[in-house]
Amino acid sequence: MTEYRAEPGRAGVLREIAPGVHVLCHPVLDVNATLVVGGEHALVVDTLSSAPQAQDLLAAVRRVTPLPLIVVNTHHHFDHVLGNVVFAADGAHLWAQEEASTFIGEPMRERAVLDYPELASELACTVPVAPANVVRTTATLDLGGRRVELHHFGRGHSIGDLVAWVPDAGAAIAGDLVEEGGPPQFDEAYALEWPDTVAALLALLPASAQVVPGHGQVVDRRFVVAQHEQLAALAWLIREGEQDGAPAERVAAKSPFPQDLSLPAVQRGYVQLNKP
Ligand SMILES: [Zn+2]
Repeated sequence: MTEYRAEPGRAGVLREIAPGVHVLCHPVLDVNATLVVGGEHALVVDTLSSAPQAQDLLAAVRRVTPLPLIVVNTHHHFDHVLGNVVFAADGAHLWAQEEASTFIGEPMRERAVLDYPELASELACTVPVAPANVVRTTATLDLGGRRVELHHFGRGHSIGDLVAWVPDAGAAIAGDLVEEGGPPQFDEAYALEWPDTVAALLALLPASAQVVPGHGQVVDRRFVVAQHEQLAALAWLIREGEQDGAPAERVAAKSPFPQDLSLPAVQRGYVQLNKP
């Protein structure tokens, strides 16, 4: 079915960060997938970039739990959702934010092939599956003796960012609203709204909370506070720059994040501020 061969250790391992909460950081793009084990169901948050990667993830999950699975996608980007097909075949019910689910389909798979040609063979055998269950702002999943809250706090990294909050573990799975190991990505972001969205997440988090970012290492609340300050600084630069008529390139050069990555944030912000 595929030329993909899992190399030893390639799939990463599920590491328990709190009782019954396990995180796998996949070596391809350092994407995080999180497993939350309840009494009757287990939850998998994000399904990696392709069906072969998701097969490895599902195998890792099955070494931890035989329970029926629920899947949540934090947002619609391919590296978080294209493994959905494997979990759907395993009988999982799939969830995403309402807007995000509409972007999960063949066009995003084709774009991923163009952007990441090294993944083309994996993606060739991957069928996009959009979640049938959608969340507008909040929903609660009952895993059996364990509750997981889903929150769409507003737009930020994407149009439909969803946070999974596990209250009894003090763990938030934030997707790319929080980035570790690299700067936030703005290609499809709402840089003017992102700070408020992260502020709403922070309001939920106790000081002891652990936060699973979309990529990289698990972080604490202080890390998210610091990233919020940088996002807020960029949003103000965009507003000031638009008022002063400053070229987007000059504003991006002042950003706390790399200039080339900040440029789309400024350009998209300008368009948004000039909408009637
Ligand atoms: Zn993303």
